[in-house]
Amino acid sequence: MKYLLALDAGTTSVRAMLFDFERKQFVYTAQQEVGQSFPHSGWVEQDANEIYYKSAYVLNRCIAEAGAENIAGIGLTNQRETVVCWDRNTGEPIAPAIGWQCRRTSEFCASVPQAEREIIRKKTGLPVDAYFSASKIKWILDHVPAARKLLERNTLCAGTVDSYLIFKLTGNFVTDHTNASRTMLFNIHTLDWDDELLSYFSIPRGILPEVKSSASVMGETSFGGRKIPIAGVAGDQQSALFGQACLYEGDGKITYGTGLFLLFNTGKTCADSQSGLISTVGYTLKDKTVYALEGSVFHAGSGVQWLRDGLGFISDAAETETLARSVPNAGGVTFVPAFTGLGAPHWDSEARGILSGLTRGTTKAHIVRAVLESIAYSARELIDCMQRDSGICLREIKCDGGASANDFLMQYQANVLGIGVNRPAERESTALGAVLLAAISLGMMDEAEARSVRKTQKLFRPEENRAACEEGYQAYLLAVKRALLKG
Ligand code: ADP
Repeated sequence: MKYLLALDAGTTSVRAMLFDFERKQFVYTAQQEVGQSFPHSGWVEQDANEIYYKSAYVLNRCIAEAGAENIAGIGLTNQRETVVCWDRNTGEPIAPAIGWQCRRTSEFCASVPQAEREIIRKKTGLPVDAYFSASKIKWILDHVPAARKLLERNTLCAGTVDSYLIFKLTGNFVTDHTNASRTMLFNIHTLDWDDELLSYFSIPRGILPEVKSSASVMGETSFGGRKIPIAGVAGDQQSALFGQACLYEGDGKITYGTGLFLLFNTGKTCADSQSGLISTVGYTLKDKTVYALEGSVFHAGSGVQWLRDGLGFISDAAETETLARSVPNAGGVTFVPAFTGLGAPHWDSEARGILSGLTRGTTKAHIVRAVLESIAYSARELIDCMQRDSGICLREIKCDGGASANDFLMQYQANVLGIGVNRPAERESTALGAVLLAAISLGMMDEAEARSVRKTQKLFRPEENRAACEEGYQAYLLAVKRALLKG
């Protein structure tokens, strides 16, 4: 069979992509936007039905293009942490999906005592935060009457977006280790739901899916009378780690999208972060568990969107590159894009953005450059933590995501880090990871072959004179301190 199919169920869109297995590249994409709603300040909801119907639609488009008989299997990757609760008998969601950015459970999370926080961090690798699924599931159990009714009847299902899509597409109630590791209910050392945590959040084990390895057949879905297995599943960032061929200890990648996500392969060791990073399952194959450290910064490319939509400085994100190059430096301007708080390593949702060092000589170009530089500095902050926590010294970092198209930013990143920044030919690392996991589980390739699919498009090497970058970084760290209300 000639093709594999990736389904990438993201926050703002779902995409299906056909992967030509001989040419080892994507050849066709179908995409649909999905909506989000914000019913109260800080709340984010989605319609799980819409996610499913649009996923089925884009899958159908690709299958019609290739012919179902030519598709060996589907690799699924998805937005993480978002929670869906549904009726096992009908597959109908009982409430809107609670999005990963939703802050409705912040107060509850803030009330968790220090001793419990430490237990939770040890078991799950995660800091207690409304970002993760556990408090969102608890909220539904506490506030949605239908949840209690279904619970009494033993037909309540609660899971992340992957488990809902797999349920709808195959009838099986399963998830993979990477998605489970973002729920704050999953013990990443034993690879099982943790009874102590389940009882702490008052969540019965029976409403959660079975957890399988990322490269395993989750079930079969029927299209036009043909059965196609869903054979690989991973949360979006972990999938990108795999697609970027970060398969050895010490390999890492940064995704420059709306936010910035650094994942760093720590091999068989589950590193215990003392710096506010997250320990997570990187991926699991049949006989192997690979851990990762993760740093998520909530705002990166969104600073560029703000330049466009908020300030009207640019009409297109790509213009930032020319503007940043038009000045020799940021003219002493420092930016911290803490629009809705700071993620790793600070975890302060009360922090707000800062633009400092303005003089009468400051121009639009300086501010644009400061915004791009801030992206590189936030990555440096994470990488410094990561190297400290893991004891591993990074040799090179792989990059992807929308803003990785910016050559100025990638070169500046190499200079700030003092290591090479390696951009792949295939920017869709997330979809690629899911397809490669499916290929491994179907026996179409082994791990070494999966590793060789990624090709370098450009390597940005650090330039000689980097003292100014270091000064800029120190100024950024000072500005972060000011942005932290608590600090
Ligand atoms: P997401 O998956 O989070 O929606 P993408 O990976 O599609 O994000 O990247 C989109 C983000 O990248 C936007 O915030 C946009 O402002 C930024 N971006 C896109 N192109 C560029 C560019 N050439 N320079 C800087 N930022 C860019």
